[in-house]
Amino acid sequence: MSDFDRIAIIGVGLIGGSIARAAKEKGAAKAVSLWDADVAALKRAGEIGFGEVAGTIADAVKAADAVFLCVPVGAMKQAGEACAAAMKPGAILSDVGSVKGSVARDLRAAARPGVHIIPGHPIAGTEKSGPDAGFASLFEGRWVILTPDSNGDAAYKAATDRLAQFWSALGSKVERMDAQRHDLVLAVTSHLPHLIAYNIVATAHDMEGGGGGVTEGEVVKFSAAGFRDFTRIAASDPTMWRDVFLNNRDAVLEVLGRFEEDLTALRKAIRHGDGQKLFEVFTHSRGIRREIIEAGQDTASPNFGRDKDDKK
Ligand code: NAP
Repeated sequence: MSDFDRIAIIGVGLIGGSIARAAKEKGAAKAVSLWDADVAALKRAGEIGFGEVAGTIADAVKAADAVFLCVPVGAMKQAGEACAAAMKPGAILSDVGSVKGSVARDLRAAARPGVHIIPGHPIAGTEKSGPDAGFASLFEGRWVILTPDSNGDAAYKAATDRLAQFWSALGSKVERMDAQRHDLVLAVTSHLPHLIAYNIVATAHDMEGGGGGVTEGEVVKFSAAGFRDFTRIAASDPTMWRDVFLNNRDAVLEVLGRFEEDLTALRKAIRHGDGQKLFEVFTHSRGIRREIIEAGQDTASPNFGRDKDDKK
């Protein structure tokens, strides 16, 4: 069990709200301070009862043992600078951003003596945003990747252990990793899938409107399960994903290059009627899906947001 007396959540949306709810529910922090640049979101978080709404960002962090920046990646630098200046020595400044290289650089530049900068990323989330989207069980059984400085001293290492314990108390599995490696792995498993989803929805929309042979309204009316699953991913927050691609450019471009090569091979197989090649690729992919289910990373019957009563 973690021994944080007080944590501060900066950005009370899906991830920040979920940390606050989980910390309260699991007893992982005795008190939670809240701050958000969006006045309406902060007010709503207070109403829901995530924690104590602070008057300023400095008030939110000054007594905290650990501060979690849960803002878009492009806002980390500004938020980190505002927090680090007001934090007490020995406290932890962490984050939940989906990119780690750029955020680690931004936070280390903002560092003050005695404040431990330990970037992190919970591999958990949904396509929804805002304080009402958060829920306490979001991190249960999910990986959290910490990218600590490998040259940290004994106090820094102890702070990293403490942060890992906090995430474990929320039900997460914790892995430590180099930031560059994190960004490459997540480019494959998260960033490229989102780019593909955004693009396929844009293509379908263009075909409907721009003389692509698909009549207005047909994409929505005849949306098959495959397309619907892509639209769920493509409904993710535009600000968050713009910032991910701007800040993980090199890794995304590298993975995109590999993807284009493989897509060209599939296109060739279709053109040449190479059923053997298609069958091999599809069979291999099916095996990967099975491995993900066996590893407990998904269930065999996910509903992908297909609940009829889920109108949010
Ligand atoms: P969210 O629901 O949109 O919440 C973010 C909140 O931060 C918003 O209320 C936003 O206000 C506020 N904010 C923006 N700039 C700020 C600043 N400078 N200071 C204080 N508050 C600020 O976003 P989220 O989905 O929780 O994502 C937050 C972070 O988690 C991102 O870095 C993202 O990469 C990471 N993450 C997300 C997921 C996911 O599935 N969503 C998963 C893992 C990690 P405005 O709305 O006014 O901008």
